[in-house]
Amino acid sequence: MSKLILPTLFLLALMTTPVLTTAADQASTNPLLAPSTLPYQTIPFDKLKDGDYQPAIEAGMAEQLKEIDAIANNPAPPTLDNTIVAMEKSGELLQRATSAFFAQAGANTNPTLEKVRSVIAPKLAAHRDAIFLNPKLFQRVSALYKQRDSLKLDPESLRLVEYTHKEFVHAGANLNDADKEQLKKLNEQIASLSEGFSTKLLAATKDSAFVTMDRAPLAGLTEADITAAAEAAKARKVEGYVIPLQNTTQQPDLVSLTKRTTRETIFKNSWERAERSNANDTRETISKIAQLRAQKGKLLGFPNFAAWKIEDQMARTPEAALEFMGKIAPAATARAAVEAKDIQAVIDQQKSGFQLQPWDWDIYADQVRKAKYDLNQEQVKPYFEMNNVLQNGVFYAATMMYGITFKERKDLPVYDPEMHVYEVFNADGSPLALFYTDYFKRDNKQGGAWMGNFVEQSKLKGTKPVVVNVCNFAKPAPGEPALLTSDDVRTMFHEFGHALHGMFANSQYATLSGTNTARDFVEFPSQFNEYWADYPAVFQHFAKHYKTDEPMPAELAEKIKKSRTFNKGYDMTELVAAAELDMQWHTLAPTAPLQQPDEFEKAALEKTKLWISYVPPRYRSSYFSHIWGSGYSAGYYAYLWTQMLADDAYQWFVEHGGPTRANGDRFREMVLSRGNTQDLETLYEKWRGAKPSIEPMLKYRGLQAETGGNGK
Ligand SMILES: [Zn+2]
Repeated sequence: MSKLILPTLFLLALMTTPVLTTAADQASTNPLLAPSTLPYQTIPFDKLKDGDYQPAIEAGMAEQLKEIDAIANNPAPPTLDNTIVAMEKSGELLQRATSAFFAQAGANTNPTLEKVRSVIAPKLAAHRDAIFLNPKLFQRVSALYKQRDSLKLDPESLRLVEYTHKEFVHAGANLNDADKEQLKKLNEQIASLSEGFSTKLLAATKDSAFVTMDRAPLAGLTEADITAAAEAAKARKVEGYVIPLQNTTQQPDLVSLTKRTTRETIFKNSWERAERSNANDTRETISKIAQLRAQKGKLLGFPNFAAWKIEDQMARTPEAALEFMGKIAPAATARAAVEAKDIQAVIDQQKSGFQLQPWDWDIYADQVRKAKYDLNQEQVKPYFEMNNVLQNGVFYAATMMYGITFKERKDLPVYDPEMHVYEVFNADGSPLALFYTDYFKRDNKQGGAWMGNFVEQSKLKGTKPVVVNVCNFAKPAPGEPALLTSDDVRTMFHEFGHALHGMFANSQYATLSGTNTARDFVEFPSQFNEYWADYPAVFQHFAKHYKTDEPMPAELAEKIKKSRTFNKGYDMTELVAAAELDMQWHTLAPTAPLQQPDEFEKAALEKTKLWISYVPPRYRSSYFSHIWGSGYSAGYYAYLWTQMLADDAYQWFVEHGGPTRANGDRFREMVLSRGNTQDLETLYEKWRGAKPSIEPMLKYRGLQAETGGNGK
């Protein structure tokens, strides 16, 4: 289960300095121009108009450049306060405007906002460059960096000095002027292509929905699913039924649709969504992005883009990431081969007379699951009513482990009427954060699920975290309850793990706060939090029938538990395949010609023995938005890397008495509250008492016992 979190746009992000130049009359028409007066300085969505964003973002860039200029040209010798802390305080308006904008553009967009996004993307890239490639500013940062040991800084300030210096060097601050110009050009081109990719993909995904005039092809779906498909058609003002695509290769309804032709069509719609040789075909865009990124890597002194990108991550080199994947892939594909055999046996038993194809996997796997574990998702869903899972599962586990409590607030504005806002309190009753939920799928929402910050925590600026979780759960027909699948339940726990990481942030500086950590660390708290979804003491508390409030029968619960490692060969293989694609696109040599994406993809997967007819990658290159449209380029392996951390961390809890308050508080204190204020490897090892081990991952993901001797 891979999830997105919103990319942090500004390493130098910032919030409490008063706006310098805002006239009161302007502020009265554009709410972004003044600090929010709402509790926790949260976003006044009710007052924002589509036309407010672009002027506020542009004014914010201009304002920050002025502030940066003043810092760079300060005649006084550099100090922590007049340079690094001053940078940390700069850009308040820009941060406020982009937080509000990207919240809406990601989850609640429209053609106007899409246009704003494509206009500002290259400008924001240029803005970052104007800061990181400012030679006078870099001189001051560099001077402080060189004196850092004699400055007697507190550990977090020392970390900020080191981190800031590293980011400057990473961004190209050491380049000569001509190379800097070249880099700026590359960054703008890449940003613009990347925006183009996102816009095309959103349209391509919408266009590739399955549409049918009559309900015969929908055989196998429940009445509620069919009503939802009819509602989706109505929303689009078309006749009949519409099944929209999710952003992954596999589609949720393929588990239930009994007509093989429908499944094949939906699968092919998904697989080919962005390869239709029309205006929304992304192939040319991604080959160009890959080529420009390779050139960027070279310009910055690295053999390829990935080497540059991973330099500041926990893994540090593409080789380390590839080696790690190389350890998992054989175990995963061997397990997937066993699963495929079980599935083919069911197909043959029924004398269906065909070879297993990817569009058959889910429905027949579900039959294997039923035969082996007698587990049916439709039996399970009535026990997972959405709000109940949130209150009595997700919140309950957090109260158990961390003592925090939640109180719904109806007085704060939202951008969609179905959102909810909760105020979160510490065990001692002190206010901690605001937590928003935006759970239902909409056509104007990006696919997947993610966590974002409306406001970042910083003691320097006196801000507490304001956090949102966005998902794409199926919206029920009017009057029907929202029933989640067991995957949805895990997604909810996952995103809430990010939310905890954001809400427990306790840093001086926003740059080092909460989820602003390395990509191969940031998915650790979220994947770790998934574990409590089936932990008995938590599970029994929320898994109750929405009509009768009866607890889930023990046999059914036991089946879910037993089936936890079910299909893990497939799951892990599709994930490793996607991660390999990402890494191979981004280890292309700078001299490599433009690639033909389909050929490249096939060759890349064949080379790593991951080209498997029945297990396509979780994302195909042409709709792999993590790596082309958001910040996960050369970083998708991070999901697997952080699985290792999550599983290893869970193992620690198992060995130390489970999710007790004492264990929770220790984890909060030593890991979740620390953001990026310490070296992450050290931070982890200090909490764990050892280096992370891959063994719990192989064990908990069901890849250990049955794969021995079968891997190659
Ligand atoms: Zn995540």
